[in-house]
Amino acid sequence: MKITVVRRVVQVGMLALFCLPPLLAGWGLAGLFAGGDGEVATPAEGVFFGSLSSSSAAGVTLLDPLAALETMAASRSLLTAAALAGALLVAVVYGLVRGRAFCGWVCPVNLIGEGVDAMRRRVGIAVPERTVDRRAKIAVAAAVVATSALVGFPVFEAASPIGAVNKGLAFGGFAGAGTLAAIIIAELLVSRRVWCRALCPLGGVFQVLGRAGQVNVAIDHDACIHCDKCSEACPADPAILVPALAGEDDMVRAGDCMACGACVDACPASALRFRLGRSGRCHPHEYDRNCPFSPRGAAR
Ligand code: SF4
Ligand code: SF4
Repeated sequence: MKITVVRRVVQVGMLALFCLPPLLAGWGLAGLFAGGDGEVATPAEGVFFGSLSSSSAAGVTLLDPLAALETMAASRSLLTAAALAGALLVAVVYGLVRGRAFCGWVCPVNLIGEGVDAMRRRVGIAVPERTVDRRAKIAVAAAVVATSALVGFPVFEAASPIGAVNKGLAFGGFAGAGTLAAIIIAELLVSRRVWCRALCPLGGVFQVLGRAGQVNVAIDHDACIHCDKCSEACPADPAILVPALAGEDDMVRAGDCMACGACVDACPASALRFRLGRSGRCHPHEYDRNCPFSPRGAAR
């Protein structure tokens, strides 16, 4: 089965996970779902409740690391121990898997962006592959935290398109809807996947964490026929595949990889696969000669 099919199921499932508790509770409170005279639990009393920024699962607080940094900067104080532990847990889990696995497998904005990208290609709207460097989102994340400290409130949370999808579906709220509309217009008219690739501050935080990720795309150089279908499929940025395709690395190392598997699905030669763990890194010039981490170097 294609990894992309599994990923779509997970993306939609995650959206449902965050939207269903308040919706079900709403029906229950309206007497449409639970009925009866008994007390109806509020969503917050359920096993899982919250948004993609902050949630509670079986009593454990989960907080996105950017929201935690913004809140601490804005309030100029530390979070509670439970909130700090929740932010750390999220950072460690995504850091160990692949930071931007959040973008590829969980974030609803990426799901919408991939849909817009597919539609744009289908109707034949051509946009540049890249207009902003993908590392810009790390600077955007730093600017968001600094601005939060300056103005005294978490600025990205107020306009987050991620929260917009969540709140819009669950509560009919419009906060962040303007950002979401601007992103869709930019992706249709400015450059391919510009928000997720280059501008999203949460993506910037996960890009940094992704440098330690243990779920990686590995390449079999002998099988590769250099057709570039993997680069065409990559939603993160085709540039992140270049060192592996050029024979300078045996895996996609960039923190920007979302572990989405689109390249693995697209490869007609089965030259790409997921691998657990990270290989050591060789200098590009020694990759084929003396590097102990290179399959070719080790074979000599
Ligand atoms: S390199 Fe492959 S797995 Fe990583 S983001 Fe690009 S398409 Fe997805
Ligand atoms: S799709 Fe597969 S065969 Fe084609 S360039 Fe990428 S790794 Fe090589």
